Amino acid sequence: MKIFLKFIGFLLLMCFSSVSFSQTNEIKIRFIGNCGLYMTDGNFNIYIDFPYKSGAHNYMEYDLSELDSVKINPIFIYTHKHSDHFSGKLVRNLAKKLGGRFYSPWNIKELLKLNNKLKDFTIEVFKTKHRFSINHYSYLITWHNKRIFISGDTEHAETIAVLKDIDWAFIPVWLLMDAYEKGIKLGNASKMFAIYHIGPGDRITNDNNDPKIKLLNKQGEIITIP
Ligand SMILES: [Zn+2]
Repeated sequence: MKIFLKFIGFLLLMCFSSVSFSQTNEIKIRFIGNCGLYMTDGNFNIYIDFPYKSGAHNYMEYDLSELDSVKINPIFIYTHKHSDHFSGKLVRNLAKKLGGRFYSPWNIKELLKLNNKLKDFTIEVFKTKHRFSINHYSYLITWHNKRIFISGDTEHAETIAVLKDIDWAFIPVWLLMDAYEKGIKLGNASKMFAIYHIGPGDRITNDNNDPKIKLLNKQGEIITIP
């Protein structure tokens, strides 16, 4: 009998240790291409502006293996539906195959319901303007007390400018230029800025080696938030 209990204890220990393995105490954000990001806390798998149409509008292509590596029960969140951010066909197929759901400005109310469904996760939504797009949103995701801002394609810096204490802000370079032209200071909005949506022909450099700025010009790059 004693041996049996010991065995059960061992099994319980195994269960606990596998639980602690899956909870990593960090958020990993992998840059896929354009504004495409994969975010995970070890439990939930969130994809932002991915899958999109590879190479659309002369922006980044991605390897087809990216589609095969999408994790089970994925949550897809889109800022808008331009093809360099969104592919209806690809996301519908993946959502069906992997038991996922996708959210965009067209079902914002459904997206807000994630706040009740996902543990340690809240999302705030900001209607922002983007040329040639009738419906565009930026998002502030608070996950395990870390604040991640997803700007998308908007050309207007006013929205992020009024925010504070962001840990990582994902913005395109034209948002920085807009802020500069309008005399808007973004320095206090976020601890770190990741510049995404860099086109293959763009020559963007971080001349002053600003430690708060990270250029996402290498696909597959991973940002870890402890
Ligand atoms: Zn775009």
